[in-house]
Amino acid sequence: MKADAIIIGAGISGLATAFLLKKNGLNVIVLEAESEVGGTMKSKRVNDYLVEFGPNSALETTHLFKQIADEIGISNEMVYANEFANKRYIFKNGKLHPIPMKPQEFFKSKLWSWTGKFRIMLEPFHGRAKNTAGDPYWEETVAQFVRRRLGKEFLDYTINPFVAGVYAGDPEKLGVRSAFPRLYALEEKYGGLIIGTIKGAKERKKREEKSKITAKMFSFIDGMGMLPNAISNYLGNSVITEAKVKSIKKDVKGYIVEFEKDGRIENLFSEAVVVSTPAYAAAEIVKELSAKIEDALKQIYYPPVAVVIFGYKEEQIGIELDGFGYLIPEKEKRKILGTLWSSTIFPKRAPNGYVELTTFVGGTRQPELALKGDDELTKIVSDELKDIMKIKGEPEFVWISKWEKAIPQYNIGHLRIMAMIDEFEKENPGIYLCANYRGGISVGDCVMSAEKTANKILSEK
Ligand SMILES: Cc1cc2nc3c(=O)[nH]c(=O)nc-3n(C[C@H](O)[C@H](O)[C@H](O)COP(=O)(O)OP(=O)(O)OC[C@H]3O[C@@H](n4cnc5c(N)ncnc54)[C@H](O)[C@@H]3O)c2cc1C
Repeated sequence: MKADAIIIGAGISGLATAFLLKKNGLNVIVLEAESEVGGTMKSKRVNDYLVEFGPNSALETTHLFKQIADEIGISNEMVYANEFANKRYIFKNGKLHPIPMKPQEFFKSKLWSWTGKFRIMLEPFHGRAKNTAGDPYWEETVAQFVRRRLGKEFLDYTINPFVAGVYAGDPEKLGVRSAFPRLYALEEKYGGLIIGTIKGAKERKKREEKSKITAKMFSFIDGMGMLPNAISNYLGNSVITEAKVKSIKKDVKGYIVEFEKDGRIENLFSEAVVVSTPAYAAAEIVKELSAKIEDALKQIYYPPVAVVIFGYKEEQIGIELDGFGYLIPEKEKRKILGTLWSSTIFPKRAPNGYVELTTFVGGTRQPELALKGDDELTKIVSDELKDIMKIKGEPEFVWISKWEKAIPQYNIGHLRIMAMIDEFEKENPGIYLCANYRGGISVGDCVMSAEKTANKILSEK
């Protein structure tokens, strides 16, 4: 059988690519190893609670979300975050401290000492880092970059917890150019972060673009999983589930994709093949095309993460749930990374009179904790929440999802791997790698990478 394009993997990266190609008249086939689509983006209703297995929300950084939601008929189900969601806390010395949003709050905040604040204010006076080795893939770690520009306290009590919230990662390992390219670009383009933020905002306003700071946070009434499910419905028979791709082989003028379905090996042919699986799965799939790229993809580390969802009666909670939630700096030596106050952020996350809290455990910081047994994880999180959020008693509802390989780490060395992927695509025209280890891990980044991939395929047809 032949298709205009074969997409391997029905996570948001693969499905958004397939959607954009089909909309432009291409006959696409999506092959997904599991019985359900969505990859990490899955949601479920259990006892009137909304359970998110992976992402809880996305930032509307691209017009594509609205466009896709409109065309697949779910724009009425889109929900924007409560205005409280802008308020976020960081845990320090046994207390939750709001992250300051205005200059007067910054001066009052107990998150940093006066010396630490003074160091932050000196940010505009620090020059650019020097790449003395002349290596095109050279980059500082996020920690080196932040220590140099904003000081150690800002690293420990702002960036370290923030990185745990986004990547479940370690700022001493993540590369700043790879993991936070827009932050790095502020220094590169404008010479500093504060000046760059001000000038960048003016330029974006002219271009009518949204940054991650100003973009609106959204989900769907029945959770993030609604988006991949509705795209899959739109694609109809073009999506084949329980079809695990084994290999891609070169053929005259195209590629043969070999996959296993119902215990049988089957083949599909196409001139365009998009590999939208995690890097470790892509390594296996493309190894017959290049052993070098197989090695490179295998180097991308995915730490484990457990998502622990608790439901409590409102009266069990000892603090006001007036924000997005909190993150915990590594220095505080706790056993959780942070907690989202899910039922504050979006409606219909918990039954009336109850609240839903989503806590993340593990990541690069404590990988061994993420894969503990459910009873042990429940006890760890319950004990931590009693202390941090002054909760009385045990949760009425518990749901745990464990990701053995959760989020790709854009660690030092990532730029070199990305350059190798560019080279691999040039050497194998018609093969495209499009997933969250390339171009950003957020749902918005995945959708924007899908758009780039679809445009490349369409322009080459
Ligand atoms: C716990 C957690 C919380 C997160 N929270 C947020 C958040 O709040 N906001 C945000 O923006 N982002 C968040 N993210 C990140 C974001 O969800 C992911 O980066 C994004 O969903 C990844 O999409 P993807 O399509 O690239 O990959 P995936 O979702 O991993 O999809 C890949 C697909 O490929 C399939 N596959 C694998 N091997 C094969 C094979 N051999 N043949 C066929 N198919 C195969 C898999 O089954 C899977 O369906 C979170 C991630 C995790 C894990």
